[in-house]
Amino acid sequence: MTCVICEIGQGNGNIRKIFEDDKVMAYLKEKPCTFGHIILATKKHYTILEQVPDTEIAHIFNIANKLSTAAFESLGGGGTNIIIQNGSGAGQMHPHFTIEIIPRRENDGLNFQWQPKQLSEEEMSTVELTLKQETDTIAVGGEKKKEIIKEDDNTETLKEKEGEDNYLLKSLRRIP
Ligand SMILES: [Zn+2]
Repeated sequence: MTCVICEIGQGNGNIRKIFEDDKVMAYLKEKPCTFGHIILATKKHYTILEQVPDTEIAHIFNIANKLSTAAFESLGGGGTNIIIQNGSGAGQMHPHFTIEIIPRRENDGLNFQWQPKQLSEEEMSTVELTLKQETDTIAVGGEKKKEIIKEDDNTETLKEKEGEDNYLLKSLRRIP
């Protein structure tokens, strides 16, 4: 299966490129939602944000920030929205990670407002607990969390939590 964004990266496709380095490229969205709508894509094929290596995340956000500033400085306006549609459930159209930089001006017709939901105390506590259990396993640049596993003979051993295979299976559900 060919990826539209990888094709663009290889020079195929008629795009209006506004920036490029060895890791990323930025071009104007063909049918923009505002004046100056930019797509920033990695040159390597990563499907969703969590597949992008930390070193590239730092680089791509640095470039996104600079593109946002460039749009702000050159096109004027009141600000930029920087958006990642991460996963098919979030409206991601192509299976290739991108960041969109959307310059904003007053009365541009875009609306990111939503009706706030009122959750019950119990619902809030449940979601808090569920997320906290998962965020327990976050360890940036640190050791993987370990857990005690009971063996058949009732001895306990310390093992690394969750193998790479399990992680890959889980992330597959989110890929468009
Ligand atoms: Zn791709």
